[in-house]
Amino acid sequence: MALLALVGCASTPLVETKASPPPATVVTPTPVASSEDAHNQKFIRWVNEFSATASAAGINGATLHSAFDTVRFLPRVIELDRTQPEFTRNVWDYLDSAVSALRISRGQEKLLQLRPQLDAIAARYGVPPEVLVAIWGVESNYGTHVGDIPAIDALATLGFEGRREEWASGQLLAALKILQSGDISREQMVGSWAGAMGQTQFIPSVFLAYAVDADGDGKRDIWGSVPDVMASTANFISQSGWRTGQPWGIEVRLPQGFDYVRADAAIRQSAEAWASEGVLAVDGKPLPVLPDSFLLLPAGARGPAFLVGPNFRTILRYNNATSYALAVHLLAQRIANGPALREPWPRDLQALTRNQMLALQTALNAHGFDSGTPDGMVGPATQRGIRLYQRSVGLPADGYPTLDLLQRLQ
Ligand code: CA
Repeated sequence: MALLALVGCASTPLVETKASPPPATVVTPTPVASSEDAHNQKFIRWVNEFSATASAAGINGATLHSAFDTVRFLPRVIELDRTQPEFTRNVWDYLDSAVSALRISRGQEKLLQLRPQLDAIAARYGVPPEVLVAIWGVESNYGTHVGDIPAIDALATLGFEGRREEWASGQLLAALKILQSGDISREQMVGSWAGAMGQTQFIPSVFLAYAVDADGDGKRDIWGSVPDVMASTANFISQSGWRTGQPWGIEVRLPQGFDYVRADAAIRQSAEAWASEGVLAVDGKPLPVLPDSFLLLPAGARGPAFLVGPNFRTILRYNNATSYALAVHLLAQRIANGPALREPWPRDLQALTRNQMLALQTALNAHGFDSGTPDGMVGPATQRGIRLYQRSVGLPADGYPTLDLLQRLQ
């Protein structure tokens, strides 16, 4: 899916290895001169085998030639695929850039400029204009960071390398179908290193399922046509289960002595039920009507708290990261002149390094607070282990990993 982590890397210049241009479906054996040549030979062989499969799946010769005559293995794509961040990033650091003052004001300008078009799209798909503009803002900074890596080369590289061959091969076949449909040329079909394309950062299979031609030129153009970008995004969000007229959620205030174990994505109920437990809007007003909602405390007990409903989860279909969905909804709220957050983030807390997170998980397990297999990443199992420990020592059981917890456990 559209991976926001990729946006920043998308325009990084690549060190490219140009493979000798192959005929689309014929292996040309040449003497192996070096390991790099041998590698390129193997790559071309993989592409040729893939071409045969694609041909059997209905991709015509002209499309295969245009896609693969100039195909290149991109070492940088593999480097980026293997890079793991050293730090887990604090949610506030991410939101500072994703929902910056400049991002908000540019979003407001876009909303104003595109108002009639966006209103028509909103009426058709039932997704508010500010949500579409916010996704656009977070995905590609309103079309300014779409990436410049040819999707065919990126996906062929990932398919050949093998770590996720099945996924990449499926996406490469989808990319060929897009080329064959005439929506875009090979040269213009660019995106991030992982195949997320255009201003919506759709991967090819998402493009095939949801991209639409809104400006009526007969092409689904998520690279150059803003109406196509907006309508394609709206179509995807609408079909991912957006509930028209329902708020995404709201910043809330929890009552004194609240049991933070209740703040868990698995504990869902109506806003009415949460209100009966003493949960209020952060300004002290009653909660809006919101079914099937859970409490989200992205920085633990000391940071802002949110009650989020089905539309929050719909944005996770675009990119399955809580911080991403929060960024989209908060940006949309600000673009529409809604309130900023009231509660400050606990900015004194440091993000744990992967090694510290591993140490925390290992220590939790060693003390009998099961946090799953240590992997250096915070997931539900880690949160559960932390909550168990916190509860055992009388701390608020928010499940949030901190250096203080690590030190206590060691
Ligand atoms: Ca179009």
